[in-house]
Amino acid sequence: MDCVFCKIVVGAIPSYKIYENDHTLAFLDINPVSPGHTLVISKKHYSNLEDIPEKELCEMIKTVKKVGKALKDGLGVEGYNILKNNDPVAGQIIPHNHFHVVPRKKDDNLSQWPQDKYKEGEADNISKKIIKNIN
Ligand code: 5GP
Ligand code: ZN
Repeated sequence: MDCVFCKIVVGAIPSYKIYENDHTLAFLDINPVSPGHTLVISKKHYSNLEDIPEKELCEMIKTVKKVGKALKDGLGVEGYNILKNNDPVAGQIIPHNHFHVVPRKKDDNLSQWPQDKYKEGEADNISKKIIKNIN
């Protein structure tokens, strides 16, 4: 078992556990973007969103919701970002599905995504390519 998060599930690597149930585990990220930054994982190893069965994905998002409320109530933060880096090109370093739940406060100086504009006809072309592959 080479996966860091599988090792955290069985306790071979220590972590600050926030919540666990039969399907999921939530624990503090070792290098937080902000205090309370929590990772939510499925206990079984699946590498990305395409691999994970829907039932377990639903369990993950239910745990994300629970954690988000606890961050607001427990840390007094005003909101949070839910992030999923899916595949290495998107910044996924640990190949075990996880959601980041990142507490946010006003004036925390964390920047949002840079955004751009579509060129003439580009949105039409791109939306058609995606729609053809929705199953
Ligand atoms: P990714 O880039 O794959 O979406 O995020 C992986 C996250 O896992 C990173 O934010 C990193 O700080 C966190 N991480 C990596 N190794 C460990 C570890 O051993 N323990 C904990 N608690 N977090 C880890
Ligand atoms: Zn794993």
